[in-house]
Amino acid sequence: MTAGATPALAAIALRGCCPRCGKASMFAGVIAFAPRCRVCGLDFAAFNVGDGAASFLILIVGAIVTGLAIWVELAFEPPWWLHVLLWLPLTIALTLALLRVSKALLLALEFRNNAGEGHL
Ligand SMILES: [Zn+2]
Repeated sequence: MTAGATPALAAIALRGCCPRCGKASMFAGVIAFAPRCRVCGLDFAAFNVGDGAASFLILIVGAIVTGLAIWVELAFEPPWWLHVLLWLPLTIALTLALLRVSKALLLALEFRNNAGEGHL
């Protein structure tokens, strides 16, 4: 894959690393970007990830949770409250975990490809 000082996209996405220096400094909270890299000063606010990550996650997490819920219902026929106890926390956990990873990946891809808003 990528060699040298440039961090791999997988490491950036999974660990929230800065795409320029590779240090884990991209996030200030669970899913909130830090304003800039604490190590190299890269301005994370200049990148516009927008809702791109969330729209994919709705489909991915929805498919995973719905598939599992249908399988559990057909295999075990649990009471309705057990479905709530299982799928609500799983949906929240998957959404937060994958949102963090996908936001980091989108920011890294914008950085790598020098992407920005179109200008006429
Ligand atoms: Zn950095």
